[in-house]
Amino acid sequence: MADTDSVVSDVKLFIERLKKEMPEVFGGPGENAETESGKVLFQGKLCNAHVHLTPDQEEGIDFTGDTFNIYLQTQEADPNALMEKWLHDKAAEVLKAKTAEWAAKMGVEYNNIVIKDQQTLWASCSAKKNINYTYRIIKMPEAIRDYLIVHELAHLVHMNHGAQYWQLVGQYCPDYKAHRRWLNENRGAVFAKLDLKYTPENEDATPAN
Ligand SMILES: [Zn+2]
Repeated sequence: MADTDSVVSDVKLFIERLKKEMPEVFGGPGENAETESGKVLFQGKLCNAHVHLTPDQEEGIDFTGDTFNIYLQTQEADPNALMEKWLHDKAAEVLKAKTAEWAAKMGVEYNNIVIKDQQTLWASCSAKKNINYTYRIIKMPEAIRDYLIVHELAHLVHMNHGAQYWQLVGQYCPDYKAHRRWLNENRGAVFAKLDLKYTPENEDATPAN
């Protein structure tokens, strides 16, 4: 038994160290996934989100630049699922466009981009030059997003994390060390669950009697 325990704690230590050294590889929910009711983290900003019940209108989401307005047709509709889908679509649009821009700057070519909801990786790049991103990257500040893109594109040149690899990353992303620290410190916020709900009293004050 003692042997098994010490193996388990060795593995834990190893994973803890790996998380610190490779913050891009071990996303994961972390221990402190703090959820803020009525808020949505988008491009590094914690935005307010208001849920409205509008039976006569198509369901959908409006973003003003700092506030989300979510329109539901029925009280049973799930605003969290709708919001996740919006973030996923936005992630696909933004990550595809920005990856194309950075690839042109760096003079590299990739095949395909797939947006997923990976739990343990922010992003990855295969030998076939396919890039995967988690849609949660759209919650991060733009500088961190760009670092993760440069990180993957640099793997098209060096399929490792050697000195030459980091030199290439640093050439396009001089602040990469600070960005890696950000990833280590903000996993909880990026993995926090959405907690949005429709609250009738906000919209339609019940008359006092
Ligand atoms: Zn890597």
